[in-house]
Amino acid sequence: MKRQSRAFLPHALLALAAFAAAAGAGPAEAAPVLLVSLDGLRPADVIEADARGIKVPVLRRIMAEGAYSSGVRGVLPTLTYPSHATLITGVAPGKHGISNNLTFDPTGINQIGWDWYASDFRVATLWDAAKAKGLVSVNVHWPVSVGGAADFNLPQIWRTGHDDDRKLLTALATPGLVKSLEAKLGPYAMGIDESVEGDAVRTRFAAELITEKHPALTTVYFAGIDHIEHLHGPGSPEAKQAIEATDALVGQLVDAARKADRTTVIAVVSDHGFQPVETDVNLFAPFVQAGLIRIDAAGKVTGWDAEPWLAGGSAGVVLARPDDAALVAKVRALLDTIKADPAYGIASVIDRAEIARRGGPREASFFIDLKPGYETGRNPAGPIAGPSGYKGMHGYFPEAATMRSSLFVTGPDLARHGDLGEIDMRDIAPSLARVLGVSLPEAEGKPVF
Ligand SMILES: [Zn+2]
Repeated sequence: MKRQSRAFLPHALLALAAFAAAAGAGPAEAAPVLLVSLDGLRPADVIEADARGIKVPVLRRIMAEGAYSSGVRGVLPTLTYPSHATLITGVAPGKHGISNNLTFDPTGINQIGWDWYASDFRVATLWDAAKAKGLVSVNVHWPVSVGGAADFNLPQIWRTGHDDDRKLLTALATPGLVKSLEAKLGPYAMGIDESVEGDAVRTRFAAELITEKHPALTTVYFAGIDHIEHLHGPGSPEAKQAIEATDALVGQLVDAARKADRTTVIAVVSDHGFQPVETDVNLFAPFVQAGLIRIDAAGKVTGWDAEPWLAGGSAGVVLARPDDAALVAKVRALLDTIKADPAYGIASVIDRAEIARRGGPREASFFIDLKPGYETGRNPAGPIAGPSGYKGMHGYFPEAATMRSSLFVTGPDLARHGDLGEIDMRDIAPSLARVLGVSLPEAEGKPVF
């Protein structure tokens, strides 16, 4: 769309555009962007691929031709939804408003609802910035995209995994889009499908949209690597296989994007790293024991004053009355007690002021970080410490080196090549905004490529 419209610009406008570029108003030529997120991809699995026995020719080529980060410092918490919201806005969770994967649901009435809805963003996204400039954007399965501003939107949504989820996704996508693509490509992937095979279906749909719509901005999200790393652990043979298969899918998207416009800048990112995990910790039990959560005989929460909001390797603690000094003191004392008990595997506890300083969720009055090897267990009736449900986890405080995420980017006009070193996750959206020639004035990061 952008390229077509430029063809019709009168000469005077073209001259003006050239002058603006020469005056340093932006890059000489704005370029389309393909932004692909490989959930949970650890940077070293590509940077040290040979040593680790992982074959990722597509990602290695992007790395060799373009630029990459040795490790992207993430956000609090290092979870999929808050991190993807940062990747698309350039601000921390405390500012963009996506605080967790799951909605805070203290009495358990929301049927495990995630933060699906783009209306929860408190700041502009790259989709909004593209739209404001009249640029066409495509989205395939990026988190927090229901009702998002992408012109051609296949949002991420699921509920139960029942076949009705197909109707839900079709209804929430851009009107007519799922039907028209399915007529050509067959059934679209279910939202709940986190397999590499599901990602392969999404790849075909994304490639078709790139070919048909010539978008300036395309966002694509793949769940397969994260899914396998949770089940089998980071570095497992299964995880390596998922990374290799996903590399080939990225290759298909790169081909489609380059064919649509050879100047396309391709950025492959991830949202967080991974740690092996062995122990589930029951953080609910001490709150129940202290009377801060009340449950009935069936285990259903009937009332609460303070409750953990689980985030994998960490947990926020939300207070029903955050400004009630007596309640704050009571919860602080409880957290001091369980932190001193090694069974809980607690590495650190920070309070509201420190959470704000680190750009963490506004809803939480405290945040608990667990030690490596521990994750928050979801069963309120479970033991204080028991065998973990997963083999790999993330969500730990972003200071942990294991939580670093990935950036590999290539394009003909990249300002910098090679190793960019460690960067801040908030730098990625403003970098892409600069490539696109759009504005993200609220971004906290700064362009780094
Ligand atoms: Zn993730």
